[in-house]
Amino acid sequence: MSASERRRAELADGLARVEERIARACEAAGRARDSVTLVVVTKTYPADDVRTLADLGVRDVAENRDQEASAKAAACADLPLTWHFVGQLQTNKVRSVVSYADCVHSVDRAKLVSALSSAVTSAGRAPLNCLLQVALERESGLGGGRGGVAPDGVGELAAAVAAAPGLRLAGLMTVAPLAGAYAGSPDAAFERLAEIARDLRADHPAANMVSAGMSADLEAAVAAGATHVRVGSAVLGVRPALG
Ligand SMILES: *Cc1c(COP(=O)(O)O)cnc(C)c1O
Repeated sequence: MSASERRRAELADGLARVEERIARACEAAGRARDSVTLVVVTKTYPADDVRTLADLGVRDVAENRDQEASAKAAACADLPLTWHFVGQLQTNKVRSVVSYADCVHSVDRAKLVSALSSAVTSAGRAPLNCLLQVALERESGLGGGRGGVAPDGVGELAAAVAAAPGLRLAGLMTVAPLAGAYAGSPDAAFERLAEIARDLRADHPAANMVSAGMSADLEAAVAAGATHVRVGSAVLGVRPALG
């Protein structure tokens, strides 16, 4: 087998394992398999892997750094992929991100909302799907070191997105906290996110995406009702430190 054939076999194997986990979790939760979308997080891995994943049937990919993402999206522009941006986003990267992303999962402050809105409007592109990133650890009085709005700020930020030209309020995203009341309890964290998502839908019925769950905790996310799981290492392999 050539190196590229070996890599393809590895990716196919990783995908099959993750598929199996998602299918089991859906079954355990009494949910239809097609109620959960697998978003493969390709950060730190080359565009060749994205191409192979697309050939293996993946349609949703995510990245967390603009510089890396924009190069990969350009190299894969011929593929039928939906690009998700899941990293902390600085306003000076917004123009680049809206040139390739269909969905930003990490909207966490008003300033970013206005920057995204003007970038989408001036690019004349289709509306950008926006998820508010919720920092559940901020409920324990901790700073959201990895970004995210405090749960009690969701309503106000959601209203800002809903009112912003070019943006579509799509739902909520979280990363299971490493500190605070939810540390080590992804089940409780994702249940709390689901509760915040239900409150959000009372005011914004179309905001029905819930992005939660990664390689280590996707089952807990599916059990709590996540519509999108973001899985990297379980498909592509463990990343070298950083990233
Ligand atoms: C890297 C990353 C993931 C995927 O993490 P894995 O543990 O590799 O599955 C999911 N969400 C975000 C925001 C990430 O940065």
